[in-house]
Amino acid sequence: MPRVANAAKPKGTASVEVLEAVDETPAARTNWKVFTSLKLVPVKITCQEYAPIHWHNISCHSNLPIDADTMKAHLDAGHGGSYFVTLEPREKAWPGWNRLSELGVELADLRCNVCLKELPVAPNSILKHMKSHLSANRRVQKGGTFRMTLSMSVDDVSHEEDIDE
Ligand SMILES: [Zn+2]
Ligand SMILES: [Zn+2]
Repeated sequence: MPRVANAAKPKGTASVEVLEAVDETPAARTNWKVFTSLKLVPVKITCQEYAPIHWHNISCHSNLPIDADTMKAHLDAGHGGSYFVTLEPREKAWPGWNRLSELGVELADLRCNVCLKELPVAPNSILKHMKSHLSANRRVQKGGTFRMTLSMSVDDVSHEEDIDE
């Protein structure tokens, strides 16, 4: 069926790409600024599902370039949006956190890869799990690797008040 918009277009006009107005406020509800303000920078990102968010083997298990757009691309490609991300404090903040916010990507789930606790996106809880602490199988392990599930839907974002740090 022909689209009305196409029919109304004057002849001889090349299709013009309409750029959306840039909004000053971040598109995402997730407070990605927490990671920026802590100057935490990903040093390793793996596309990897994990229980209980994804039980099925849908991720590609690749180590990704440290790039927010690549994370979104794997989410868009149906890889589940779950990643294992190793963070380290650095002098310079990573622009990718802001980029995820601009892209409207939500952090639907955040867990510590050592103790497997679900964490709120809050400075204290993230810093706490950066340190060495008891793992799920009762061994002291170096923290800093997190499980993150990204989503384009605000509805998938955990209710932080329900999460115990
Ligand atoms: Zn992938
Ligand atoms: Zn932990």
